[in-house]
Amino acid sequence: MNINKIAELNYEWVERMGWHNKTTLEALALVASEVGEAINECRGEEPTHDFAEELADIVLRVLDIAHWHGINIEQELLNKMKKNEQRGTRGRIK
Ligand SMILES: [Mg+2]
Repeated sequence: MNINKIAELNYEWVERMGWHNKTTLEALALVASEVGEAINECRGEEPTHDFAEELADIVLRVLDIAHWHGINIEQELLNKMKKNEQRGTRGRIK
């Protein structure tokens, strides 16, 4: 299953639940809330077992926004990775 299909299936499930946000800003705030949850799972010496699930929450919320806006996120990811590679180190030493 590719990432666009995951985005579609997740979007459809969130819609069935009646949980979609009215604004993009609200949806982005919820991405930030999931980042906060991931941070809380990293407050010890090592990330907890639930850290992975919080990372998944972050990705799913981003994918939901992408699908909502008709963004081909798979292509955008590939385009951005290529763009990043072409930027070089931008002055940063390895
Ligand atoms: Mg969460």
